[in-house]
Amino acid sequence: MAYKPSTTAIHNGLNDDAQFGCVVPPIYLSSTYNFTDFNEPREHDYSRRGNPGRDIVQKTLAQLEGGHSAVMTNSGMSALHLLCTVFLQPGDLLVAPHDCYGGSYRLFNSQHQRGAYQVQFVDQNNEAELQAALEKKPKLVLIETPSNPLLRIYDIEKIAQQAHDTGALVAVDNTFLSPILQQPLALGADFVIHSCTKYLNGHSDIIAGAIIAKDEKWAEELAWWANNIGVTGGAFDSYLLLRGIRTLSPRIKQQQSNAQELVNYLKAQSQVKKLYYPGLLDHTGHDIAVKQQKGFGAMLSFEFSGDESQLRRFLRALTLFTLAESLGGVETLISHTATMTHAGMSAEARAEAGITDSLLRISVGLEDPSDLIADLENAFKVAAQY
Ligand SMILES: *Cc1c(COP(=O)(O)O)cnc(C)c1O
Repeated sequence: MAYKPSTTAIHNGLNDDAQFGCVVPPIYLSSTYNFTDFNEPREHDYSRRGNPGRDIVQKTLAQLEGGHSAVMTNSGMSALHLLCTVFLQPGDLLVAPHDCYGGSYRLFNSQHQRGAYQVQFVDQNNEAELQAALEKKPKLVLIETPSNPLLRIYDIEKIAQQAHDTGALVAVDNTFLSPILQQPLALGADFVIHSCTKYLNGHSDIIAGAIIAKDEKWAEELAWWANNIGVTGGAFDSYLLLRGIRTLSPRIKQQQSNAQELVNYLKAQSQVKKLYYPGLLDHTGHDIAVKQQKGFGAMLSFEFSGDESQLRRFLRALTLFTLAESLGGVETLISHTATMTHAGMSAEARAEAGITDSLLRISVGLEDPSDLIADLENAFKVAAQY
Protein backbone atom coordinates (compact mmCIF):
# COMPACT_ATOMS: atom_id res chain seq x y z
CA MET A 1 0.00 0.00 0.00
CA ALA A 2 1.30 3.46 -0.89
CA TYR A 3 1.43 5.81 2.07
CA LYS A 4 1.64 9.58 2.22
CA PRO A 5 5.22 10.97 2.42
CA SER A 6 5.31 11.55 6.20
CA THR A 7 4.12 8.00 6.84
CA THR A 8 6.65 6.54 4.37
CA ALA A 9 9.42 8.54 6.04
CA ILE A 10 8.54 7.21 9.50
CA HIS A 11 7.49 3.68 8.70
CA ASN A 12 10.18 2.13 6.48
CA GLY A 13 12.49 -0.30 8.28
CA LEU A 14 10.55 -0.42 11.56
CA ASN A 15 10.28 -3.79 13.34
CA ASP A 16 12.34 -5.67 10.75
CA ASP A 17 14.56 -7.33 13.34
CA ALA A 18 13.48 -10.91 14.05
CA GLN A 19 16.24 -11.61 16.58
CA PHE A 20 15.66 -8.91 19.20
CA GLY A 21 12.52 -7.18 18.00
CA CYS A 22 14.29 -3.85 17.60
CA VAL A 23 11.75 -1.20 16.61
CA VAL A 24 14.46 0.96 15.01
CA PRO A 25 16.70 -0.82 12.50
CA PRO A 26 20.24 -1.33 13.80
CA ILE A 27 23.44 -0.07 12.13
CA TYR A 28 24.93 -2.95 10.15
CA LEU A 29 28.66 -2.31 10.40
CA SER A 30 29.94 -5.62 9.05
CA SER A 31 31.89 -5.02 5.85
CA THR A 32 31.32 -8.60 4.69
CA TYR A 33 28.65 -11.33 4.92
CA ASN A 34 29.14 -15.08 5.11
CA PHE A 35 28.01 -17.49 2.42
CA THR A 36 25.52 -20.06 3.70
CA ASP A 37 27.36 -22.80 1.77
CA PHE A 38 29.68 -23.37 -1.19
CA ASN A 39 28.60 -20.94 -3.94
CA GLU A 40 25.57 -19.91 -1.87
CA PRO A 41 25.72 -16.15 -1.29
CA ARG A 42 23.09 -14.35 0.75
CA GLU A 43 21.25 -11.21 -0.34
CA HIS A 44 24.36 -9.25 0.67
CA ASP A 45 27.96 -10.28 0.14
CA TYR A 46 30.01 -7.09 0.68
CA SER A 47 28.97 -3.77 2.19
CA ARG A 48 30.19 -1.56 -0.67
CA ARG A 49 27.71 -3.34 -2.91
CA GLY A 50 24.88 -3.77 -0.43
CA ASN A 51 24.08 -2.87 3.17
CA PRO A 52 20.74 -3.50 4.93
CA GLY A 53 20.62 0.01 6.42
CA ARG A 54 21.40 1.60 3.07
CA ASP A 55 18.68 -0.56 1.47
CA ILE A 56 16.08 0.99 3.77
CA VAL A 57 17.15 4.56 3.10
CA GLN A 58 17.30 3.93 -0.68
CA LYS A 59 13.80 2.47 -0.68
CA THR A 60 12.56 5.48 1.30
CA LEU A 61 14.20 7.99 -1.06
CA ALA A 62 12.69 6.22 -4.09
CA GLN A 63 9.21 6.25 -2.54
CA LEU A 64 9.41 9.89 -1.48
CA GLU A 65 10.41 11.01 -5.00
CA GLY A 66 7.97 8.62 -6.67
CA GLY A 67 10.79 6.79 -8.45
CA HIS A 68 11.52 3.14 -9.09
CA SER A 69 14.77 2.98 -7.15
CA ALA A 70 17.53 5.02 -5.55
CA VAL A 71 21.25 4.79 -5.02
CA MET A 72 22.63 6.48 -1.92
CA THR A 73 26.14 7.85 -2.41
CA ASN A 74 28.81 9.23 -0.09
CA SER A 75 28.19 12.84 -1.22
CA GLY A 76 26.00 14.92 -3.49
CA MET A 77 29.02 15.40 -5.74
CA SER A 78 29.55 11.65 -6.10
CA ALA A 79 25.87 11.27 -7.04
CA LEU A 80 26.38 13.80 -9.86
CA HIS A 81 29.66 12.16 -10.86
CA LEU A 82 28.01 8.73 -10.91
CA LEU A 83 25.17 9.97 -13.12
CA CYS A 84 27.62 11.50 -15.61
CA THR A 85 29.86 8.42 -15.54
CA VAL A 86 26.94 6.15 -16.40
CA PHE A 87 25.35 8.26 -19.13
CA LEU A 88 28.12 10.32 -20.74
CA GLN A 89 30.87 8.96 -23.01
CA PRO A 90 33.75 11.05 -24.38
CA GLY A 91 32.24 13.46 -26.91
CA ASP A 92 28.73 13.33 -25.39
CA LEU A 93 27.23 16.65 -24.38
CA LEU A 94 25.87 17.62 -20.98
CA VAL A 95 23.73 20.77 -20.84
CA ALA A 96 23.94 22.27 -17.35
CA PRO A 97 22.57 25.49 -15.80
CA HIS A 98 24.84 28.54 -15.98
CA ASP A 99 24.04 29.19 -12.31
CA CYS A 100 24.33 25.62 -11.00
CA TYR A 101 25.86 24.71 -7.63
CA GLY A 102 29.55 25.74 -7.60
CA GLY A 103 30.80 22.22 -6.97
CA SER A 104 28.76 20.92 -9.90
CA TYR A 105 30.18 23.66 -12.12
CA ARG A 106 33.73 22.69 -11.11
CA LEU A 107 33.09 18.98 -11.64
CA PHE A 108 31.58 19.38 -15.13
CA ASN A 109 34.22 21.87 -16.18
CA SER A 110 37.14 19.72 -15.04
CA GLN A 111 35.67 16.61 -16.66
CA HIS A 112 35.17 18.59 -19.86
CA GLN A 113 38.81 19.73 -19.76
CA ARG A 114 40.10 16.18 -19.42
CA GLY A 115 37.88 14.95 -22.23
CA ALA A 116 35.53 12.75 -20.19
CA TYR A 117 32.54 14.50 -21.80
CA GLN A 118 31.52 17.91 -23.12
CA VAL A 119 29.59 20.44 -21.09
CA GLN A 120 27.71 23.56 -22.11
CA PHE A 121 26.42 25.95 -19.43
CA VAL A 122 23.17 27.56 -20.45
CA ASP A 123 20.65 30.03 -19.06
CA GLN A 124 17.67 27.69 -19.32
CA ASN A 125 15.25 30.61 -19.02
CA ASN A 126 16.72 32.06 -22.22
CA GLU A 127 14.68 30.25 -24.85
CA ALA A 128 17.08 30.93 -27.76
CA GLU A 129 20.14 29.88 -25.78
CA LEU A 130 18.45 26.68 -24.60
CA GLN A 131 17.22 25.78 -28.09
CA ALA A 132 20.67 26.33 -29.60
CA ALA A 133 22.17 23.97 -27.02
CA LEU A 134 19.45 21.34 -27.54
CA GLU A 135 20.07 21.39 -31.29
CA LYS A 136 23.50 19.92 -30.50
CA LYS A 137 21.67 16.79 -29.31
CA PRO A 138 22.90 16.54 -25.71
CA LYS A 139 22.79 13.17 -23.96
CA LEU A 140 21.87 14.66 -20.61
CA VAL A 141 20.23 17.89 -19.47
CA LEU A 142 20.59 18.92 -15.83
CA ILE A 143 18.09 21.31 -14.25
CA GLU A 144 18.53 22.92 -10.83
CA THR A 145 15.60 24.85 -9.39
CA PRO A 146 15.33 27.02 -7.33
CA SER A 147 18.86 28.16 -8.13
CA ASN A 148 21.53 29.24 -5.72
CA PRO A 149 21.72 31.97 -4.41
CA LEU A 150 19.14 34.08 -6.30
CA LEU A 151 16.41 31.40 -6.18
CA ARG A 152 15.68 31.64 -9.88
CA ILE A 153 12.92 29.27 -10.93
CA TYR A 154 13.16 27.01 -13.99
CA ASP A 155 10.12 25.30 -15.51
CA ILE A 156 10.88 21.60 -15.09
CA GLU A 157 7.96 20.32 -17.14
CA LYS A 158 8.69 22.60 -20.09
CA ILE A 159 12.46 22.10 -20.17
CA ALA A 160 12.12 18.32 -19.68
CA GLN A 161 9.69 18.17 -22.60
CA GLN A 162 12.02 20.16 -24.86
CA ALA A 163 15.00 18.02 -23.82
CA HIS A 164 13.11 14.77 -24.39
CA ASP A 165 12.06 15.97 -27.85
CA THR A 166 15.75 16.01 -28.81
CA GLY A 167 16.38 12.59 -27.24
CA ALA A 168 18.16 13.75 -24.08
CA LEU A 169 17.76 12.33 -20.58
CA VAL A 170 16.76 14.80 -17.88
CA ALA A 171 18.03 15.04 -14.31
CA VAL A 172 16.88 17.56 -11.70
CA ASP A 173 18.95 18.58 -8.68
CA ASN A 174 16.17 18.80 -6.06
CA THR A 175 18.41 19.64 -3.09
CA PHE A 176 16.90 23.08 -2.37
CA LEU A 177 13.32 21.84 -1.86
CA SER A 178 13.34 18.10 -1.08
CA PRO A 179 10.61 15.71 -2.30
CA ILE A 180 8.19 17.20 0.23
CA LEU A 181 8.02 20.45 -1.76
CA GLN A 182 8.89 19.37 -5.32
CA GLN A 183 8.71 16.06 -7.19
CA PRO A 184 10.58 16.39 -10.49
CA LEU A 185 9.86 12.83 -11.69
CA ALA A 186 6.14 13.62 -11.78
CA LEU A 187 7.00 16.71 -13.87
CA GLY A 188 8.81 14.62 -16.49
CA ALA A 189 12.38 14.21 -15.24
CA ASP A 190 14.15 10.84 -15.55
CA PHE A 191 16.39 11.28 -12.51
CA VAL A 192 16.47 13.28 -9.32
CA ILE A 193 19.76 14.17 -7.67
CA HIS A 194 20.12 15.12 -4.02
CA SER A 195 22.78 16.38 -1.78
CA CYS A 196 21.33 14.50 1.22
CA THR A 197 23.76 16.59 3.28
CA LYS A 198 21.11 19.32 3.20
CA TYR A 199 17.35 19.00 3.96
CA LEU A 200 17.08 15.21 3.72
CA ASN A 201 19.47 14.61 6.60
CA GLY A 202 18.67 18.02 8.04
CA HIS A 203 21.07 18.07 10.99
CA SER A 204 24.34 19.17 9.33
CA ASP A 205 26.18 16.08 10.53
CA ILE A 206 26.79 13.92 7.43
CA ILE A 207 27.85 14.31 3.81
CA ALA A 208 25.73 12.13 1.51
CA GLY A 209 23.95 12.10 -1.83
CA ALA A 210 21.47 10.15 -3.92
CA ILE A 211 20.24 9.47 -7.43
CA ILE A 212 16.61 8.47 -7.75
CA ALA A 213 15.64 6.88 -11.08
CA LYS A 214 12.13 6.99 -12.45
CA ASP A 215 12.43 3.93 -14.64
CA GLU A 216 13.24 0.35 -13.70
CA LYS A 217 15.58 0.06 -16.68
CA TRP A 218 18.21 2.36 -15.09
CA ALA A 219 18.20 0.76 -11.64
CA GLU A 220 20.65 -2.03 -12.24
CA GLU A 221 23.13 0.04 -14.19
CA LEU A 222 23.26 2.80 -11.56
CA ALA A 223 23.67 0.31 -8.72
CA TRP A 224 26.35 -1.60 -10.67
CA TRP A 225 28.37 1.53 -11.38
CA ALA A 226 27.96 2.85 -7.81
CA ASN A 227 29.56 -0.35 -6.54
CA ASN A 228 32.09 -0.45 -9.38
CA ILE A 229 33.52 3.00 -8.70
CA GLY A 230 32.92 2.66 -4.95
CA VAL A 231 30.76 5.70 -4.17
CA THR A 232 27.99 4.08 -2.15
CA GLY A 233 27.04 5.56 1.25
CA GLY A 234 28.50 4.11 4.45
CA ALA A 235 26.66 2.32 7.26
CA PHE A 236 26.72 5.15 9.82
CA ASP A 237 25.68 7.73 7.25
CA SER A 238 22.83 5.49 6.08
CA TYR A 239 21.58 5.28 9.65
CA LEU A 240 21.81 9.04 10.26
CA LEU A 241 20.21 9.83 6.92
CA LEU A 242 17.24 7.55 7.63
CA ARG A 243 16.89 9.15 11.06
CA GLY A 244 16.95 12.61 9.50
CA ILE A 245 14.38 11.65 6.87
CA ARG A 246 11.99 10.49 9.62
CA THR A 247 11.30 14.16 10.44
CA LEU A 248 11.81 15.69 6.97
CA SER A 249 8.20 16.64 6.38
CA PRO A 250 7.49 18.53 9.65
CA ARG A 251 10.97 20.06 9.59
CA ILE A 252 10.76 21.58 6.14
CA LYS A 253 7.19 22.78 6.63
CA GLN A 254 8.12 24.59 9.86
CA GLN A 255 11.32 25.97 8.32
CA GLN A 256 9.27 27.24 5.39
CA SER A 257 6.80 28.90 7.74
CA ASN A 258 9.72 30.51 9.64
CA ALA A 259 11.17 31.69 6.31
CA GLN A 260 7.86 33.35 5.44
CA GLU A 261 7.92 35.24 8.75
CA LEU A 262 11.47 36.42 8.07
CA VAL A 263 10.44 37.49 4.57
CA ASN A 264 7.54 39.50 5.99
CA TYR A 265 9.97 41.25 8.32
CA LEU A 266 12.74 41.82 5.75
CA LYS A 267 10.28 43.16 3.17
CA ALA A 268 9.65 46.21 5.32
CA GLN A 269 13.24 46.65 6.50
CA SER A 270 14.89 49.79 5.05
CA GLN A 271 18.40 48.25 5.18
CA VAL A 272 17.30 45.52 2.75
CA LYS A 273 17.86 46.71 -0.82
CA LYS A 274 16.46 43.69 -2.60
CA LEU A 275 14.85 40.51 -1.33
CA TYR A 276 14.82 37.18 -3.18
CA TYR A 277 12.18 34.60 -2.20
CA PRO A 278 10.03 32.59 -4.66
CA GLY A 279 6.93 33.31 -2.58
CA LEU A 280 7.12 37.05 -3.33
CA LEU A 281 4.59 38.02 -6.00
CA ASP A 282 7.19 40.05 -7.91
CA HIS A 283 9.86 37.31 -7.75
CA THR A 284 10.81 36.24 -11.28
CA GLY A 285 9.33 32.79 -11.83
CA HIS A 286 6.82 33.09 -8.96
CA ASP A 287 4.05 31.69 -11.20
CA ILE A 288 6.15 28.68 -12.18
CA ALA A 289 6.98 28.09 -8.53
CA VAL A 290 3.25 28.09 -7.74
CA LYS A 291 2.71 25.56 -10.53
CA GLN A 292 5.53 23.11 -9.82
CA GLN A 293 6.28 23.47 -6.09
CA LYS A 294 4.19 22.56 -3.07
CA GLY A 295 5.66 25.48 -1.15
CA PHE A 296 8.27 28.21 -1.52
CA GLY A 297 10.93 26.59 0.67
CA ALA A 298 13.11 27.89 3.46
CA MET A 299 15.94 29.58 1.54
CA LEU A 300 16.04 33.33 0.97
CA SER A 301 18.60 35.92 -0.10
CA PHE A 302 18.81 39.66 0.23
CA GLU A 303 21.00 42.57 -0.68
CA PHE A 304 22.19 44.39 2.38
CA SER A 305 22.11 48.15 2.06
CA GLY A 306 25.37 49.51 3.45
CA ASP A 307 29.13 49.47 3.01
CA GLU A 308 31.48 46.64 3.93
CA SER A 309 32.13 47.85 7.47
CA GLN A 310 28.39 48.00 8.11
CA LEU A 311 28.00 44.53 6.65
CA ARG A 312 30.76 43.24 8.94
CA ARG A 313 29.07 44.82 11.96
CA PHE A 314 25.73 43.33 10.94
CA LEU A 315 27.15 39.82 10.63
CA ARG A 316 29.13 40.09 13.89
CA ALA A 317 26.09 41.32 15.80
CA LEU A 318 23.98 38.29 14.84
CA THR A 319 23.89 35.59 17.49
CA LEU A 320 21.37 33.10 16.06
CA PHE A 321 22.61 33.20 12.44
CA THR A 322 25.83 31.23 12.02
CA LEU A 323 28.15 32.49 9.29
CA ALA A 324 28.64 29.24 7.36
CA GLU A 325 28.12 27.59 4.00
CA SER A 326 25.62 24.76 3.44
CA LEU A 327 21.88 24.73 4.11
CA GLY A 328 18.92 22.67 5.14
CA GLY A 329 19.87 21.98 8.76
CA VAL A 330 17.76 22.70 11.84
CA GLU A 331 20.03 25.65 12.67
CA THR A 332 19.83 28.95 10.81
CA LEU A 333 22.85 29.74 8.65
CA ILE A 334 23.80 32.93 6.85
CA SER A 335 26.39 33.14 4.10
CA HIS A 336 28.05 35.97 2.23
CA THR A 337 27.93 34.71 -1.32
CA ALA A 338 30.83 36.68 -2.81
CA THR A 339 33.42 35.57 -0.21
CA MET A 340 32.00 32.12 0.54
CA THR A 341 29.96 29.85 -1.78
CA HIS A 342 30.84 31.82 -4.94
CA ALA A 343 34.37 32.95 -4.03
CA GLY A 344 35.72 30.66 -6.77
CA MET A 345 34.01 32.78 -9.45
CA SER A 346 35.73 35.86 -10.82
CA ALA A 347 34.23 39.22 -9.82
CA GLU A 348 33.08 39.66 -13.43
CA ALA A 349 31.40 36.24 -13.54
CA ARG A 350 29.65 37.06 -10.27
CA ALA A 351 28.47 40.40 -11.60
CA GLU A 352 27.15 38.70 -14.72
CA ALA A 353 25.30 36.18 -12.57
CA GLY A 354 23.72 39.03 -10.58
CA ILE A 355 25.65 38.31 -7.39
CA THR A 356 26.69 41.55 -5.71
CA ASP A 357 29.16 42.00 -2.84
CA SER A 358 26.26 42.83 -0.53
CA LEU A 359 24.26 39.64 -1.18
CA LEU A 360 23.50 37.48 1.87
CA ARG A 361 21.82 34.07 1.78
CA ILE A 362 19.88 32.59 4.68
CA SER A 363 19.00 28.95 5.29
CA VAL A 364 16.18 29.37 7.79
CA GLY A 365 16.21 26.86 10.62
CA LEU A 366 13.84 25.71 13.32
CA GLU A 367 14.47 28.36 15.97
CA ASP A 368 11.46 30.38 17.09
CA PRO A 369 10.95 32.95 14.32
CA SER A 370 10.38 35.80 16.78
CA ASP A 371 13.86 35.20 18.23
CA LEU A 372 15.34 35.18 14.71
CA ILE A 373 13.58 38.44 13.85
CA ALA A 374 14.68 40.11 17.11
CA ASP A 375 18.25 39.04 16.34
CA LEU A 376 18.04 40.57 12.84
CA GLU A 377 16.46 43.74 14.21
CA ASN A 378 19.31 44.18 16.69
CA ALA A 379 21.99 43.52 14.06
CA PHE A 380 20.46 46.05 11.64
CA LYS A 381 20.52 48.63 14.47
CA VAL A 382 24.17 47.88 15.28
CA ALA A 383 25.07 48.13 11.58
CA ALA A 384 23.33 51.53 11.29
CA GLN A 385 25.19 53.13 14.24
CA TYR A 386 28.10 55.54 13.53
C1 LIG B 1 25.53 20.90 -1.59
C2 LIG B 1 25.01 20.73 -2.95
C3 LIG B 1 25.55 19.77 -3.83
C4 LIG B 1 26.74 18.93 -3.46
O1 LIG B 1 26.47 18.06 -2.42
P1 LIG B 1 27.56 17.55 -1.33
O2 LIG B 1 26.75 16.68 -0.43
O3 LIG B 1 28.11 18.76 -0.66
O4 LIG B 1 28.61 16.81 -2.08
C5 LIG B 1 24.96 19.63 -5.07
N1 LIG B 1 23.91 20.40 -5.46
C6 LIG B 1 23.38 21.34 -4.64
C7 LIG B 1 22.22 22.15 -5.11
C8 LIG B 1 23.91 21.54 -3.37
O5 LIG B 1 23.38 22.49 -2.57
